[in-house]
Amino acid sequence: MEPGVEDKQKSEARPSALEQAVMAADVTADLRWVLDKLPDGVLFMDWEWRITYANEQGRKISRLHPGDLNGPTHWELFPASVGTEQEQRYRRVMEQRVMDELEFFYPPFQIWIHLRAVPISSGIALIFSDVTELHHAQAEAAKLTAQLQQVFEATSDGVSVLNREWRYTYLNRRAKEILEQDGMDLLGQSLWNIFPKTVYEGSPFVENFYRTMNDRVPTTFEAYYPEPFNGWFRLEVQPAADGVVLFFRDITRSKQAEAALLAEKAETERQKAELEAVYRTAPVGLALFETKEFRYLRVNDRQSEVVGIPPEELIGKRIEDVVVAPAVPNLFRERVAKGETIRDMLYETELRTRPGELRSFNVNYSPIMDETGEVRAISAAVLEVTQLRRAEKALVQSEKLAAVGRLASSISHEINNPLEAVTNLLYLVQGVGGLPEEARSYLSLAQDELVRVSQIATQTLRFHRQANKPSRVTAAQLVDAVLNLFAGRLLNSGIHVEAGYSTAVPILCFENDIRQVLNNLISNAMDAMRTGGRLFVRAHDAVNPDTGEVGVRITVADTGTGMASHTQRRLFEPFFTTKDLNGNGLGLWISRQIVERHRGRLTFRSAQGLELHGTVFALFLPCESSELQP
Ligand code: ADP
Ligand code: MG
Repeated sequence: MEPGVEDKQKSEARPSALEQAVMAADVTADLRWVLDKLPDGVLFMDWEWRITYANEQGRKISRLHPGDLNGPTHWELFPASVGTEQEQRYRRVMEQRVMDELEFFYPPFQIWIHLRAVPISSGIALIFSDVTELHHAQAEAAKLTAQLQQVFEATSDGVSVLNREWRYTYLNRRAKEILEQDGMDLLGQSLWNIFPKTVYEGSPFVENFYRTMNDRVPTTFEAYYPEPFNGWFRLEVQPAADGVVLFFRDITRSKQAEAALLAEKAETERQKAELEAVYRTAPVGLALFETKEFRYLRVNDRQSEVVGIPPEELIGKRIEDVVVAPAVPNLFRERVAKGETIRDMLYETELRTRPGELRSFNVNYSPIMDETGEVRAISAAVLEVTQLRRAEKALVQSEKLAAVGRLASSISHEINNPLEAVTNLLYLVQGVGGLPEEARSYLSLAQDELVRVSQIATQTLRFHRQANKPSRVTAAQLVDAVLNLFAGRLLNSGIHVEAGYSTAVPILCFENDIRQVLNNLISNAMDAMRTGGRLFVRAHDAVNPDTGEVGVRITVADTGTGMASHTQRRLFEPFFTTKDLNGNGLGLWISRQIVERHRGRLTFRSAQGLELHGTVFALFLPCESSELQP
């Protein structure tokens, strides 16, 4: 055999050992037995195209009957193959003695045959198999591919396939829309020279594409594509049999939304930080408590400063750990825990960090509720008012001293005139002639005593000191003492006084303080009756309607001018006066404080009618004021 022919045979189909045996020899019985066991069909034909041998599989596929052997020609047995390419190729094998391999459909049997035609010494041998099933499977696969392509065409993702030379072998509809600008056709074009340089520069896609192509691993990434795309794309690169498949999606919109969301989040964060800073640095103590034990959940700088404990230590502590008992009264706790807001509660206590120092706070509590209306936490705003309270107290004290001073001067005024008269009278008596010596010495003794009395009246009263222990006095004692002081002024003003006491219960109180209250009430009444009138002062046994405590009610009623409603609203305010320079507006303010300290009540009613005008102040004092402090 020429080397060229051999080469050709090699390249087309190298004859197997079996084929060589068939070519070489007659078919022996053994060989027949072996051939019958083959999965391939085998037919031998002589030079006249008569079938001289068929193995079992060959007879089956070709549907041969025993009479078909060594009789009719191949063309008579299989008339459908006459005039086909198949016939031409068989004849070429027979004439040119070269091997051939072909695949064809044989319509009468509706089967696909894969066949090798081999020249043998006695003519030609056909070795073949029924590949109909395989063909169906291939057809199915082709159908599937077509369906897949339909899906790809319909999908909103871009899908394209690049072969190993980086040339586009497929682009779906969306891929064409995105990539094929200005009607160009990318099919068959190389990826690396169709877009402007800027598309490739610095883009992660070059590196990722190479990786998938070379390492056969899928990659997914997002990248911004400049001109002519101007958008964000999400790419998925999958290795395929003959290159890579790209799935890509325009995500510009969602990127923009994402960016907007991020910006919004940053803004929210910024606002939160701002609020946080305000909260932290506010010049008011701010705190958040849980509702069960009133433990600190969060505090700001001022609150931590005020209580003298750093914020991180304060968190988790109960109020009782911070202040000396009593802490927030239970009553308030219950009310806040129920969802009530408490405003401007005055709270005086010692801090555990500064024992022995009374501090005053203005405290506000408001509940923080969840959507079901349940109280989740309690927010507190605390303003330290210790300095303010101290100033207030100092003021009360100085007003008290001033009142005592006024009292003393009025007493000395009231007493000094009659004293002077008596002194003068005694002096006159001394000058009367013929007085026995004994009477003279009594006179001078009386004169000395008088000097002492006037000293006591002027000096002792002037330097009158506040008692620091409460004492027991009756209402009559209290009122009479004050009325006596004012007796002269009352008479001069044309005021008729009616006093009546239906109680004799002694009251435990700071006598001087209560006298000062009565003093204030009566002097106000006198001020309201410049042109005369009637003053009624009465005392009864009484019960505090709020607490049920027994005590005494003293009423001071006048038939004076009465008060307008705006005066009534404000008369307990410090420095509120309608008397210009004649008043200082502190009388009732101090009176109320004194009464509160005695746990009493000071109320009033006033009318400005033509017929009925005047004011009644009612002072209730409990008999036993526990915890009375000066
Ligand atoms: P002051 O007497 O220095 O004005 P007060 O605190 O004692 O201060 O009283 C405040 C104001 O209340 C008075 O200026 C007056 O207008 C009003 N007021 C108090 N008591 C009476 C009263 N009995 N009749 C009419 N007005 C009164
Ligand atoms: Mg007054």
